[in-house]
Amino acid sequence: RPDRYESLRDKPSVTRDDAPVSIRLLGNIELAQEASHCIERGAEGVGLYRTEFLYLNKSSHPTEEEHFAAYSSVVNTLGPNRPVVIRTLDLGADKFSSVSGAVAGEKNPFLGLRSVRLCLYDRDLFKTQLRAILRVALHGDVRVMFPMISTVDELRQCKALLNDVKEDLEDAGIPFKSDVPVGTMIEVPSAALLADVLAREVDFFSIGTNDLVQYTLAADRNNEHVANLYNPTDPAVLRLIRMVVQAAQKEQSKRPFEVNVCGEMSGEPLYVPLLVGLGLRQLSATPRKIPEIKRVIRELRVAEVKDVADRALGMETASQVSSYLRDYLRKIL
Ligand code: PEP
Ligand code: MG
Repeated sequence: RPDRYESLRDKPSVTRDDAPVSIRLLGNIELAQEASHCIERGAEGVGLYRTEFLYLNKSSHPTEEEHFAAYSSVVNTLGPNRPVVIRTLDLGADKFSSVSGAVAGEKNPFLGLRSVRLCLYDRDLFKTQLRAILRVALHGDVRVMFPMISTVDELRQCKALLNDVKEDLEDAGIPFKSDVPVGTMIEVPSAALLADVLAREVDFFSIGTNDLVQYTLAADRNNEHVANLYNPTDPAVLRLIRMVVQAAQKEQSKRPFEVNVCGEMSGEPLYVPLLVGLGLRQLSATPRKIPEIKRVIRELRVAEVKDVADRALGMETASQVSSYLRDYLRKIL
């Protein structure tokens, strides 16, 4: 079926305001080949590269060269001017936990040694990846991002390890880019609550709503029996997102600082007015969703959606917010 919104691909992603506000749209990818889908659908770059998918169907860890080859392919597809945010390994829990013995048999894998925790536990695993990222960064607009950060110390440990890796590369005379922008995902409630502190440590945030919703409401994102609780419009989630955006805006008043949303929430047209109203100016979504998202953005007025966000934040339940957003979207489209 031809793409309904194909005509939108080359139109700018801007609001309807008299002074149009531009909203940067980026793509989420799991495999290197998908970088081209982002360009085809009109994304300005890759906002989330889920690198752990390199571990799909692998019984042993991919080598540094395998990481490098996959990242190079993305960077070459995007060219020098489109950014790619390479997220470090988010293994464990729902993703390829079989590749690491340390996580076998965990009783609570989502609260266990997953993601950046596993990387800080198995430092060779982490270093292999960081070396590849620093090397490939010479060839494009590469940024590095740590997932599932839950404390300030954890983020500092990741940054310290990144510096160790730079020293190793330097000592070995291997070319790399040393000033790669560093970001953190905000996908654990503790990180959202401490966003003002975390902001001082990094160059950008990316809000991962999939995990943020799961951890805020203590509802497994993959368990159908608690799916009624798992709701991105829960006012508790909205308050956390607002806190993160406010912390980012405070940082922006002092220096360049970006805040993005990369969970499934940003790929859902229903939530776009709310996210823009909350102050977000960058959304990253699965490439297939980019044209629909752009279509919604082109119908928005910032002053109006600020009011939408304020009203939503004043509501008491997720279902109230959802039905309000459904009515609003129907009205503007
Ligand atoms: C998220 O949690 O929202 C996110 C983008 O990460 P993932 O879905 O890969 O856990
Ligand atoms: Mg996540």
